[in-house]
Amino acid sequence: MSKTPKLPTVREFLERFPDDDSCLDHLMETRYGKRHECAKCGKPANYHRVKARRCYECDFCGYQVYPTAGTPFENTRTSLRDWFHVMFMFTTSRNGVSAKEVQRTIGVTYKTAWRMCNLIRQYMGYVDGDNSLGGKGGGIVEADKAFIGGRDKLGQDDKAVVLGIIERGGEVVTRVIPSKRANHVIPAIFKWVRPGSRIATDEAGAFRELSEHGYRHGTVNHSAKEYVSGEVHTNNIEAFWSHVKRSINGTYVTVSKKWLQTYLWEFEFRQNLRKQPHLMFDLLLQSFPRPAR
Ligand SMILES: [Zn+2]
Repeated sequence: MSKTPKLPTVREFLERFPDDDSCLDHLMETRYGKRHECAKCGKPANYHRVKARRCYECDFCGYQVYPTAGTPFENTRTSLRDWFHVMFMFTTSRNGVSAKEVQRTIGVTYKTAWRMCNLIRQYMGYVDGDNSLGGKGGGIVEADKAFIGGRDKLGQDDKAVVLGIIERGGEVVTRVIPSKRANHVIPAIFKWVRPGSRIATDEAGAFRELSEHGYRHGTVNHSAKEYVSGEVHTNNIEAFWSHVKRSINGTYVTVSKKWLQTYLWEFEFRQNLRKQPHLMFDLLLQSFPRPAR
């Protein structure tokens, strides 16, 4: 096993990015490259910074590139360095980052802090994407539902149903679904799990028809006929869910149904990039859409 690369500490990170200029430089480098084929003149150009503006100019023709265009940094009064700092917190945290913590750390209003966190979570979702799991030669796929949330304003039980699917040694996908019934669970599995995969679940009724759809299905209590009974377990997805629930309780306390999926993206992002934590920050910067030319 190769060792997971070490991440910088907050202090090292802030030393590396002492001001907005150094952040802008890094943004340009990560998103476009300071040397790239110019979109206008087509030459392999070096781009140099234009003083007092957040742009870089082609050495040959003067074409200008604004690395913040299309990003959340474009129309914001929050400094680039503060954005970098908060993004760094998200990529290095294990249990999530609350808006309160952001408010305290960089000294913005709660509303601004919440908006920053919300955007970062959405971009974490874009980076992560949702790849198909399992398939021929793929690992065993575990699927499990979880119920997350609390009570509504009337004190009634108001938990969201989420489906989590994880490939052993691979990635995790989560989805908030309308109900725990088969007609919501099965289509989600079709969408993300390749045909013919080995799937391990508990004995919930919603999973029962999986074998009719060509999956090799084993349930935790009735061991599968097709693969070794010791392999039929849902420990990985259960561990993922317990981590998510612990973190939500500890960091976020309550999460509205409306935004639950964005929080799940955040946990997916970190889970799926856990072996390359040093790439998380730059992948996030690259995830912002580029403006059309
Ligand atoms: Zn040019």
